[in-house]
Amino acid sequence: MILGVFVARPYCRFLCPYGVLLGWMSYFSKFHLDIPPSPCVSCRLCEDSCPYNAIDMPTPEALVEEPGTGKRRLRTVLFLSPLIITAGAMVGYMLNEPLSRLHPVVQLSERMVAEDTGLVQGEILETETFRTSDQTTASLHAEALGIRNSFKTGGAWLGAFVALIVTLKLIGLSIVKKRDVYTPHKETCFSCGRCYPYCPVEEGGVHP
Ligand code: SF4
Ligand code: SF4
Repeated sequence: MILGVFVARPYCRFLCPYGVLLGWMSYFSKFHLDIPPSPCVSCRLCEDSCPYNAIDMPTPEALVEEPGTGKRRLRTVLFLSPLIITAGAMVGYMLNEPLSRLHPVVQLSERMVAEDTGLVQGEILETETFRTSDQTTASLHAEALGIRNSFKTGGAWLGAFVALIVTLKLIGLSIVKKRDVYTPHKETCFSCGRCYPYCPVEEGGVHP
């Protein structure tokens, strides 16, 4: 939410898996919104008018790459992608303990153990209420163990998912195309058309 104050729709644009898939579909689709100035006078009015920072500037000469550099980078990322995803899954798995402690049942189970073994003195409202209930301590610990195990599986999937998003982003960044004019980005442009009226040399509309 805090990031959203500075960047428009950060989750949709950078993290949402559906957004990533839509971005990829958009990248390969035939028709795209375009600002086809002839010639583009590089006034940058379109860039300023876009609320999503979706206008890409012409590629600076210093960043124009040798032919084949992008392909080599892409091959490297593709080669490393299984390792990145596996590493993400492992990190997610290792985080199961701190993450599971966010669950109230796990918190209660740990507090009960601490009280019963004398690690902490006195009872809190939750343990006091639990001790007056019908549930046994053994069943509470068993339930907490089940939740911890779920967090192991869930943490691994979450880590793998985040790593997958990172990998897809890296793949996208490895494909650098030379641009000669200001162009709406294929993946991040929402085709809202707000930039059109700002272009002083724009005449038409959507161009394939
Ligand atoms: S159509 Fe909308 S989202 Fe796309 S570049 Fe123009 S202003 Fe930005
Ligand atoms: S508003 Fe039109 S002329 Fe100006 S930079 Fe954008 S595309 Fe080029």
